[in-house]
Amino acid sequence: MRKKIAAANWKMNTTLAEAESLLQTMQGFAPKLDENHIAVFGIPFPYLSLAGEKLGEKPFHFIAAQNCSDKASGAYTGEVSVAMLQSVGVRYVILGHSERREYQQEGNALLAAKTDAVLQGGLTPIFCCGESLSIREAGTQDAFVQKQIEESLFHLDAQQIKQVVIAYEPIWAIGTGKTASSAQAQEMHAHLRSVFAKQYGDDVAAEISILYGGSVKGANAAELFGQPDVDGGLVGGASLNAEEFLTIMNAL
Ligand code: PEP
Repeated sequence: MRKKIAAANWKMNTTLAEAESLLQTMQGFAPKLDENHIAVFGIPFPYLSLAGEKLGEKPFHFIAAQNCSDKASGAYTGEVSVAMLQSVGVRYVILGHSERREYQQEGNALLAAKTDAVLQGGLTPIFCCGESLSIREAGTQDAFVQKQIEESLFHLDAQQIKQVVIAYEPIWAIGTGKTASSAQAQEMHAHLRSVFAKQYGDDVAAEISILYGGSVKGANAAELFGQPDVDGGLVGGASLNAEEFLTIMNAL
């Protein structure tokens, strides 16, 4: 059974004191999670160890980094390797968020290399894809997102692709308060699953978790997650509010 996942993405937010307080509150919660319904916390690098201490011991809670290097080690000033992340208890790595694609010029080829590095290190990539508003208005979103997937992931074999979590995040819905309708989300998720099915077969495609991201909040999570191909969410703004994120975890 594919996993249902509530994934928080704190982005570049919180001071140490704020992070500590948010993690402390989360530590006190008892969300309805189990082996197939899990929570993942995408925390800024400086607080990853702290997050591991606060949440890493809680069942079905996992810590994620928001990025990593495609290189194993060496003279890459300012970069963070998969081995470093693994050594502080990180289990997931968010890759290819649209903000990194836009501000750090991360392209499909680099993201293919980062995906390989994460998988080789035994961690799970949360691979983000999604179209801009102009692409959506032109009606070419299916082909655009398919190309992102093909160019970054289709070199993987069936065993590897099953380890990858996909996050479909239409850029026009990220941080804008404009959520894709549950029908729009379901339509793209079904398309993506059919893209995986064509390449890897129906059984493999059925095992891939595909999350939706873009202004998910407590009030809309249940409807979005109720769609047959929506396996949870990648949540930015609302994940900085402990109660909102608790509602989102419970909506799984
Ligand atoms: C995100 O950062 O991945 C995201 C979806 O942000 P928000 O929930 O704030 O739209």
